Amino acid sequence: MSTPQPHILLVYTGGTIGMIKDPDTGALKAFDFDNLLDRIPELKLLDCHISTTSFHKPIDSSNMHPDYWVIIAEIIENAYDNYDGFVVLHGSDTMSYSASALSFMFENLSKPIIFTGSQLPIGDLRTDAKENLITSIQMASLQKNGRPILREVGLYFEYKLYRGNRTTKINAEHFEAFESLNYPHLAESGVHLKVSEEFLFKPNTRKKLVVHKTFDTNITLIKMFPGISEPVIKNILETPGLKGVVLETYGAGNTTTQSWFTDLLKDTIKKGIPIINVTQCSGGSVMMGQYETSSKLKQIGVISGKDITTEAAVTKLMFMLGERISSKAFKTIFETSLRGEMS
Ligand code: ASP
Repeated sequence: MSTPQPHILLVYTGGTIGMIKDPDTGALKAFDFDNLLDRIPELKLLDCHISTTSFHKPIDSSNMHPDYWVIIAEIIENAYDNYDGFVVLHGSDTMSYSASALSFMFENLSKPIIFTGSQLPIGDLRTDAKENLITSIQMASLQKNGRPILREVGLYFEYKLYRGNRTTKINAEHFEAFESLNYPHLAESGVHLKVSEEFLFKPNTRKKLVVHKTFDTNITLIKMFPGISEPVIKNILETPGLKGVVLETYGAGNTTTQSWFTDLLKDTIKKGIPIINVTQCSGGSVMMGQYETSSKLKQIGVISGKDITTEAAVTKLMFMLGERISSKAFKTIFETSLRGEMS
């Protein structure tokens, strides 16, 4: 008996991948997604059923916002029982943020949600879109004993599948636009699709899917630089309504030790506003206390982001604030890996 073909839902949100050149003006414009299967005949050769849906008004992902994350999540949630996997077509600019956000939204996910996009539009002769799209669909279709192999939010780009919440966009030009420096890639596409099963996220499949939909955007991201000034930091930290801070520090979590700086951080934490320490380096981890320049941060209760990416830290902070996690439990929960976003 042949096994039934997996059902995959393609969700088009916007981005370069879905644009075509207007033959008259030469300008890039959004693609008509209803005719996707006709425009890319290769999709008909895949061993799965594909359905498509699209944002009513596709966006450039630079306009991404948590409200759109809820729209994507609801499309998937409403279709969850009828599909085996989901592929989200998304602009590359903020794809790592969206993939991270969706990973926090979907608790006990037991099916793949694969984000992909491209550097060149799908209609371009040299496009990277076709490979990214076709292989993402194949990745989302992978099954073992009738069950999806991938049970997490992934990001597929240029022959590699990454854990979405571990990625960062590292190049605005190369086809290899993403990297996951603190976690190995999950699968690779060569002559065969090679999945590294030992690195896949293993959700608790006995638990029911829970979709979280509230993000609190009253946060800020501060990147340290030599000469950062007191009035600027004071102004940011005293922003009315501020609820959380991601602090991008040097190296293994180090900052200036000037007392005005640590005093301002201390006052902020005392007000119940969590401060998350993440490193500006693309790889490696925060280790507060390793240097004198981070010992004070540890002492005053700064939260360690460990080896989390800035994208995952920002979305995790908005997610946890949206969940109204108590300030007592906030540090412990933030420092715990929820969806494989930190080691
Ligand atoms: N600006 C585009 C976007 O993020 C770039 C891309 O699609 O890769 O939507």
